[in-house]
Amino acid sequence: MTLRLQPRRPRRLNLGALLVLMAVTAAVAASLWLAYRALRPTSGRLGRLRQYWSNPQAHADWAVRAGKRCGTAPFVMPTDGLIGFLWGDSFYPGHQHQGLDIFGPTGPDGLGMTPVVAAHDGYLTRLPEWRSAVIVRIPSDPLMPGRTIWTYYTHMADADGRSYIADDFPAGTREQFVTAGTLLGYQGNFSADPDNPTGMHLHFSIVLDDGQGRFRNELEIGNTLDPSPYLGVAVSASAAGSEPAVCASGS
Ligand SMILES: [Zn+2]
Repeated sequence: MTLRLQPRRPRRLNLGALLVLMAVTAAVAASLWLAYRALRPTSGRLGRLRQYWSNPQAHADWAVRAGKRCGTAPFVMPTDGLIGFLWGDSFYPGHQHQGLDIFGPTGPDGLGMTPVVAAHDGYLTRLPEWRSAVIVRIPSDPLMPGRTIWTYYTHMADADGRSYIADDFPAGTREQFVTAGTLLGYQGNFSADPDNPTGMHLHFSIVLDDGQGRFRNELEIGNTLDPSPYLGVAVSASAAGSEPAVCASGS
């Protein structure tokens, strides 16, 4: 029996394929680096939130207090807890957070415990389909008199959508006057997906008016304002340092 050996085909380096591979590798590395750069502050804040939740009492100095005013700021704090995520934080590349996420001291599942109050006098509306949110119209922006702005408060329901909004404001409420400090409801972890609750917090934002008495789409950061000058605390992701966002004057 004879064994015929196949002549071994010399292995040829395909320069074109190698260049493509190098380009793809470089592009992947660059996008990973950009994503890391964009998300690094947010991941730092996530670490702090985990620390806070593990022992809120030990980190009480990281928290703000519902109804407290920082210095001469026009707004009072809308709830208790750690301002965990800031205005402009990025949760994924290309995303910018339009408001503040304030996490109460009762932990991710401690529902119905942490009050949410109006940050400023205004006229409260709760659309008929809103289970977790209210919006308060402020006819004259205290920092730009004559301009209408809106303050939006959401996640005030449990994971299954049971509302934690105060009984005074049933779904369908329109233009009900509330003063600063009025109890609006309690923090919840409603996300519209019962299997993936958000972790208990308040999302608070300041929304621009469309010029005709309607609030603009809150989901776009361009329709919202940096809450920093309204609360007297640096809560813009681009301006805030790595320390917890609390009132510098200690009040
Ligand atoms: Zn949020």
